[in-house]
Order: sequence, then structure tokens, then C-alpha cells
Amino acid sequence: MTVERLHARLHDRVETVRERIAHACRRAGRRPEDVTLVAVTKTTTIEVASLLPELGVTDLGESRPQELWHKAKEIHPPVRWHLIGHLQRNKVAHTLPLVSRIHSVDSLRLLDAIEQEAPPAGIDVLLEVNTSGEQQKHGFAPDDLPQVLEHLPNLRRVRLTGLMTMAALEEDPERCRLTFARLRQLRDQFAGQLVPPHGLSDLSMGMTNDYEVAIEEGSTMVRIGSALFAGLQDG
Ligand SMILES: *Cc1c(COP(=O)(O)O)cnc(C)c1O
Repeated sequence: MTVERLHARLHDRVETVRERIAHACRRAGRRPEDVTLVAVTKTTTIEVASLLPELGVTDLGESRPQELWHKAKEIHPPVRWHLIGHLQRNKVAHTLPLVSRIHSVDSLRLLDAIEQEAPPAGIDVLLEVNTSGEQQKHGFAPDDLPQVLEHLPNLRRVRLTGLMTMAALEEDPERCRLTFARLRQLRDQFAGQLVPPHGLSDLSMGMTNDYEVAIEEGSTMVRIGSALFAGLQDG
């Protein structure tokens, strides 16, 4: 497929997602500019991902550190890279200089490892919280949050900016609503206790299957892969 054709197709995908984000915002009485589209490039190529900035999509996400390293070597600022999946402590040092945010901090040990390796300018992180109750998911239990937040004054370089969750894969996205509402309730419950530079203004929730419900429940960052890239290069 020619790059022009690919560009045109990707443009349509981005427009469709942006329209649906805008509609969901309207339903919820929110402003579209308060929701960041993070394009999750894990299933696509560097060639395709490189077209995103000219389509106005400059926030890109990867779930695997090694894949992020690989793509970030080729796709540079103004793109901001987001790590959205599990980070092993031995990969922290290599990852930090490449990312603008880590959405998926899921243990105190990882938080401390990030603090150790963070550059003087600091690093923005979100805490992944398991609000779906699924056993196999990464993330803190909601009951762990008070202990994590008490630990924040020990950190000099890590800035907590919000919370992240993943809903169960449901045929009916309405069934994800409670998972998202729980994350927002946790934000509302704890935000007032935090002292700057820490805060909980980011709510990273919503994927292809459920982002409109997530926006209705207060998401400020939707992480979208399939809706942008699935089948893009077919036929
Ligand atoms: C893959 C992935 C996404 C995007 O999923 P889609 O359903 O393809 O939109 C979002 N968040 C995380 C953590 C992921 O691993």
C-alpha cells in the first residue's frame, strides 16, 4: 500500500475516534480537550506510527518496555511516549529517559526503583489500581492506596499525577462502567490529601472497547490501539 493511501486511512481512523471522544464528552458535559488520546502502537509498525504526529496525535503508548525502546529510537519529540504496561525493575533505567509518563506503577518497590533512577527534572507516574477485581490483573488493590500515598513524602523526583485502571474485556462496555467509576471515586477520596507536586488529576482509563464509557466516568487519558490500527494495512 502506498504511504499516501495509508495516511488517508489512518486519518479516517483518527477522525472517527476523535468524533466519538467528542460525543462522549458532550454527553458527559465535558470538554474534548480535557481527554488525551494516547495511540497504543503495540500492534503496528514504526512506519505507521510515524504518520501519527502529522495527524495531530503526539501521545503514543506501548505496553512492553522493549518495544517502547525500539520505537522511541525512531520516533522522536514532539512525540511523547507513555509506558502503559508492566515495568520490571531491571528495565527502569533504560526506560525513564524515553518516556513522558509511566501509567503502570504497580508496586512500592517499583516506585522506589523509579525514584532511584529518575533524572533531576523528575518523572510523572500514575498508580495502576485493580478496580475490576480480576485476579490476573496487575495493579494495587484499592485498599493498598493509603499506604502508597503515605510513602510519597519520601520521593524527591517522582511526581504522582493520577491513577490508571484496565477494565475486564466485556462484550457490553456498559459492564465496565463500575470499574471506571470506582477509579474516579478513589481519585475523589484521596486527591485532597496530596501535597504538590503530587496530585491525582490524570485518570487513565478506556481502551477501544470501552473508551466512551470511560470518558463518561471521567477519563482524562484514553489508550486506544485496535480502533486505530486493526486491519489498517489489509486489502
Ligand atoms: C493494548 C493496550 C491498550 C489498547 O488496547 P485496544 O483494545 O487495542 O485499544 C490499552 N491499554 C493497555 C494497558 C494495553 O496493553
